[in-house]
Amino acid sequence: MRSRKRYTNATFTKRVDHEAGRHHTPRAPVEPEVCNVCGAVYSDRRWVAAAEVRKGNRKHKHWHPAQAVVCPACQQQKVGIPRGFLYLEGAFLETHRNEVRRLLRNEADRAAEDNPLARIMKWETDESGRLVVSTTTQHLAQRLGHALEKAFSGKVRYDFSHENELARVSWHRD
Ligand SMILES: [Zn+2]
Repeated sequence: MRSRKRYTNATFTKRVDHEAGRHHTPRAPVEPEVCNVCGAVYSDRRWVAAAEVRKGNRKHKHWHPAQAVVCPACQQQKVGIPRGFLYLEGAFLETHRNEVRRLLRNEADRAAEDNPLARIMKWETDESGRLVVSTTTQHLAQRLGHALEKAFSGKVRYDFSHENELARVSWHRD
């Protein structure tokens, strides 16, 4: 069983900080919140994916009533601000596109089990024919790069801009 920490005023204050002061009105800190876009649930000071909640292995005594909100990842998706980019190119990609996409999807699903706010935002092909995958977190872009390297070899380069809190991961295989 997971820890069942009680909500306190301290918890509530911390949470407001986490959301960059979006909620200015004081609210009762006892209910969990549920994202009305993806169904993720905020409880015990962390976001839990809807699928995890449905499994019933992370029950909380403050389960209801849930307050409808939009979680940080869905807000990010809505305004379109990625924290990570993964660039894929090379001849291998042309002949193995489906396998590569499947690997990335599976890896993103596994990452979401650890952090439901880590998501792939968009799949695009840029003007030079690269596949560009944007992610909600820097860590997810890195993780996808590692997964590509492990599964298909090739070369990976990691670039970080601390100022913009942005990770750019480039994978190449001919
Ligand atoms: Zn959401």
